[in-house]
Amino acid sequence: MTAEPVAQPLVGFRRWGATRGGLYSGIFVAGRFIPNPALGMVAPRAAQKPWPVDADREAKCFALNGHRAPFANCNCGWAAYYALDAEPELPAPECAWGAVVAWGTIIECETGFRAQFARPLALLDHRYPDDIRERGQRLEGAAEAYEIPLLSRDELIAYAGWHGEVRG
Ligand SMILES: [Zn+2]
Repeated sequence: MTAEPVAQPLVGFRRWGATRGGLYSGIFVAGRFIPNPALGMVAPRAAQKPWPVDADREAKCFALNGHRAPFANCNCGWAAYYALDAEPELPAPECAWGAVVAWGTIIECETGFRAQFARPLALLDHRYPDDIRERGQRLEGAAEAYEIPLLSRDELIAYAGWHGEVRG
């Protein structure tokens, strides 16, 4: 593992919980999306914040003994995979896959990386079959909020490659 500023931005692929017009980091458990569980543990009443739409955001660590993110022996930093599965898993209606561009300090792991800075580039047009709550418009709503395109898998990978190095 290395933690060094990279010369060229890296692109990666990840999933978010797309809800209320925002893209949230979090986990999927038993068909439900749980935003930012690490933050919920240290600050149960903290407001859950989506990835910002208007600015790049520096990653923060929610561990008790904080440090600058990303940190090698931790989970902090904006995380993404190098590669996008052919049929990415959709564990809940909120699940939205997309591409990010990342820069600054980056911790590289086997299947992906964690970065100091990142922003969403585009969303994958791959949706949960039965999304009643947002009437199938969840991805369109998020793409519009972030002013990013909604693309097929091939288009997404090509588009990502224009913004940084694709290692997947
Ligand atoms: Zn950390």
